[in-house]
Amino acid sequence: MLDQIQGLHHVTSMARDARTNNRFFTDTLGLRRVKKTVNFDAPDVYHLYYADEFGTPGSVMTYFPFPNIGKGRPGAGEVGTTAFSVPQGSLDWWAIRLADKGAAPVEAQETFGEKRLFFRGPDGEGFALVETAGDDRAPWTGGGVGEDTAIRGFHSVALRLREGAQTAELLTFMGYRPVDSSGAVTRFAIPDGNGADVVDIETLPGTPFAGLGAGSVHHVAFAVEDRAKQLEVRKAIADTGYQVTPVIDRDYFWAIYFRTPGGVLFEVSTNEPGFARDEDQAHLGEALKLPTQHAHLRDYLEKNLVPLES
Ligand code: ZN
Repeated sequence: MLDQIQGLHHVTSMARDARTNNRFFTDTLGLRRVKKTVNFDAPDVYHLYYADEFGTPGSVMTYFPFPNIGKGRPGAGEVGTTAFSVPQGSLDWWAIRLADKGAAPVEAQETFGEKRLFFRGPDGEGFALVETAGDDRAPWTGGGVGEDTAIRGFHSVALRLREGAQTAELLTFMGYRPVDSSGAVTRFAIPDGNGADVVDIETLPGTPFAGLGAGSVHHVAFAVEDRAKQLEVRKAIADTGYQVTPVIDRDYFWAIYFRTPGGVLFEVSTNEPGFARDEDQAHLGEALKLPTQHAHLRDYLEKNLVPLES
């Protein structure tokens, strides 16, 4: 069993409209946009990163807003719900906030002894805010959400699968332990993690597979400290028979990818070098940053990418 993985690193999803997406995460949810860059493979599409003040692994929600793409079709083989951790006692405030900002429908739930609010993002994606005791991660409060209510980072992702056993085995190999189960959901947690410690597997046999589009999670990334740990994980995962990509430089972290038995794309990413690599910490996410290979497109992209509110 591996011991290098520290919990979630980031979650990457697809959206239809960059401005709506930016407003939802920075205004409604009060996260900090920590990077404004472009898709490596489609540089005329933004890659937007929302997180805490620093872009700490375990807090980073990223989006590819593809103008005019069709809506995703929810189903099996994807992340169904991405959950954020909020302080105990804050959900009444959040219910009003979300309603005021038009993020209804909001449904109060209780799962595994935790209170949560389920709601949908602008493209129909499933989100939850979960009241978490003792989450000491520092929140970003520059987005108009105060210290006593602000998001601390991810709580969990829930994988919606037709068949969960092989993915459960994989998570266990990655260092996760089964900690609870309720109905169709088994909860896994990483010991001594970065705070974004939980992965739920929801097993729904016979559910049609999801169709990728706006509102779909594209992949979920797990955190390792550095490139040496990443190579250890890469070798171990490949040795168990998975097809793992080579290490890819994503400018703010190094990444490897592999497809899991239930259909979800996993990534393992390094905590290094981080989002202050190419701009000042005080001004993260303000300027358009371009990967080196797309730097020559700056004039074109600055004219053609839709301007975002700050
Ligand atoms: Zn990624």
